Amino acid sequence: MLVCIYCEEEKGDKNFSSEHVIPKSLGGAQVPDRFKTQRVCETCNNNLGLFVDASFEKNWFISNWLHAIYPTDKIQDGFKEIPLICIGILKEKAPFLQTDEICEYYLGPNHESIFWIRPDDERLFGYVGGNPRTTKDANTRAYFFMSKKSESNAHAMLYSFKHAFSGRKVDKILAGQIDGFEISKIGLRPPNEHEKTEIQWLDNYAFNQNEKVQCQIRHYGRFDIRFLSKLARGLSFCIWGDKVLQSPYSREIFKGIWLKNDEPMPDTKNVSIFANQDQNLLDRFGYPKAIVITFMQIDKNISMCVNIGTKKSARIICADEKMLTDIDRRKIEGGLAIVIFSFLKKAISMTLMEFLAHKDGTLPHPELAKIEQEFDLTSEKAPRNLQDKP
Ligand SMILES: [Zn+2]
Repeated sequence: MLVCIYCEEEKGDKNFSSEHVIPKSLGGAQVPDRFKTQRVCETCNNNLGLFVDASFEKNWFISNWLHAIYPTDKIQDGFKEIPLICIGILKEKAPFLQTDEICEYYLGPNHESIFWIRPDDERLFGYVGGNPRTTKDANTRAYFFMSKKSESNAHAMLYSFKHAFSGRKVDKILAGQIDGFEISKIGLRPPNEHEKTEIQWLDNYAFNQNEKVQCQIRHYGRFDIRFLSKLARGLSFCIWGDKVLQSPYSREIFKGIWLKNDEPMPDTKNVSIFANQDQNLLDRFGYPKAIVITFMQIDKNISMCVNIGTKKSARIICADEKMLTDIDRRKIEGGLAIVIFSFLKKAISMTLMEFLAHKDGTLPHPELAKIEQEFDLTSEKAPRNLQDKP
């Protein structure tokens, strides 16, 4: 029998499966094995993956911030596809949509416009791309409109389109003209007569008006607190083991993982990713084009900070002073920094001291220095007006 670190229920060994504590979509597969665990029950692995991890990564703001740390200036092996940017759901309901369908609007790497018609989902309506499980099997269609730049920067377009909506049953239809490409090679096909009328409507709606395309964004509250609590519990368990399930403070983290909208906030000193950002902290712990997760001691408590690039961060106390002995503290002496480059599918872990020494130039970290040499990490532009708060 084993105790699951998230639901704390005791279950037979057969009910446990391998868990990437840092979700795979944020680079969890690339981090060292010591940040993975076998102590998560399958129910939590499935449900928290869908309702906590995915609610973070598929939140409209987060998904666009994650996009902003994706280099778009250099297309190379290993990160050929530039993800599409989700602008939102068309405000006006197209006359050809079924009652349970919506049209989600995306931008390609050269400002190509993509309209994806998919079923709506009442339960997970706030997810960019809808419920990842149910929409995966739904037969959907998407219209791809090229831009003036599409042909001159065809590489970016080709790779992005090839990978857009991968793993889903999306019928990809070319709206308009594109010369010089075998469109079937990138998974596109020409429209039939019926689809041409839909294209006409979209074309008229989106491009023949002077204003921007009107879109709506959907958003849940508190999803990031649940995500932070889960990540803090998972990583703390990887470092300190079972004791993180037993201390009085661990109750607060537990509440955070299972937090409902009407419940009081747990006493975990969490700072939401939507809170006013502390520029000092961002300068210190953020890193361009990377997700950085740090552990450090602040007044005898251990604080975890999650940074997306150099613009956004969230933090939480993951272990309090009563939980840890001096021996425990020594396990992360010098702090911890996990630096994840999604676009390279690479994660580098080091002590926080090494990370800070690299950042201030005292002692360059060889792997970070190599990446800085190879890529332009300076430009970090949010695709739209992402400074807006929900
Ligand atoms: Zn569980």
